[in-house]
Amino acid sequence: DAKASGPGHYVQFKQELQTAQDDRFLLQRELETALETNSLEVAFQPLVRAEDRRIIGFEALCRWPHPRLGSVSPAEFIPLAETSGLIGQLTEQVLTRSCQAALHWPSEMRLAVNISPVLLRSEDFVHDIARILQSTGLPADRLEVEITEGVFVYDTTRVVSHLDALRALGVRVAMDDFGTGYSSLNYLTRLPINKLKIDKSFVARLGENKANDAVVSCVVGLAKSLGIRTTAEGVETEAQAELLSAVGCDSFQGYLFGRPTSDPMAMIVAECKATPKHRAVEQSLSS
Ligand code: C2E
Ligand code: MG
Ligand code: MG
Ligand code: MG
Repeated sequence: DAKASGPGHYVQFKQELQTAQDDRFLLQRELETALETNSLEVAFQPLVRAEDRRIIGFEALCRWPHPRLGSVSPAEFIPLAETSGLIGQLTEQVLTRSCQAALHWPSEMRLAVNISPVLLRSEDFVHDIARILQSTGLPADRLEVEITEGVFVYDTTRVVSHLDALRALGVRVAMDDFGTGYSSLNYLTRLPINKLKIDKSFVARLGENKANDAVVSCVVGLAKSLGIRTTAEGVETEAQAELLSAVGCDSFQGYLFGRPTSDPMAMIVAECKATPKHRAVEQSLSS
């Protein structure tokens, strides 16, 4: 209580606020430098098909190896990039690098990239993606953009028209962290969505709570009836994978199948060696 604790506390509070602001500003300048020197990195986490658990693609996840702080979480620097106008540059770097990486993968594997709501509202966005696909040579149908429900809170019409334009190029659209935003079900019938990614908070509670299991099963069923694919995020246990398979979920992502890695090719090669009968992958690896 400010009054009871006296002016001393107020001064201390002000100092703490100031320090937090200074830290933020410093971090922002360091992020600018990281972008200028191209020192952000991309990690790739596999997505596997539920049916046979083979890799069907990778999600690109941005990493910032920070000289002082070790690794800063994207949960921290993505919002900073969004509010400081750096998100466009960051996304361009992540997209370019990950498209280049995906060119080396078997051609049936897709690349998923997270796109901030901030960018989806901008007119240039569709052109930027088209330009990056063109310059890297990655076919549009191998790219999937991951968006969050937050994007539809404002400017729905505009965002939908941008997504339609992307779909017309051949790019796919996935709704990320599904179930954590507003009026999820309402959007499903109206949006140009190819895939739902069921948020890891639902996956974590699977088998522990009947109501939660019912929600997951219902969402998968609803998506299926709308022709939308489903991926479960944050699958960590065999029991979760089995429950998800049983309700008809199409694909999985999570530590059970692979952590984000800087060397996705090693993972692809390892899988290929484990199943030498899979000729298609071998051929595309040697070509
Ligand atoms: P996301 O897109 O939902 O990505 C999945 C997050 O879950 C990743 O966290 C991943 O490392 C983590 N994860 C994967 N499997 C498991 C698991 O089995 N258990 C648990 N507990 N976690 C798992 P990460 O890499 O820390 O990224 C956090 C978020 O930051 C992402 O969530 C995404 O929203 C955002 N992000 C990351 N890279 C980018 C980027 O390049 N651009 C934008 N706009 N956002 C990004
Ligand atoms: Mg994502
Ligand atoms: Mg997610
Ligand atoms: Mg998330």
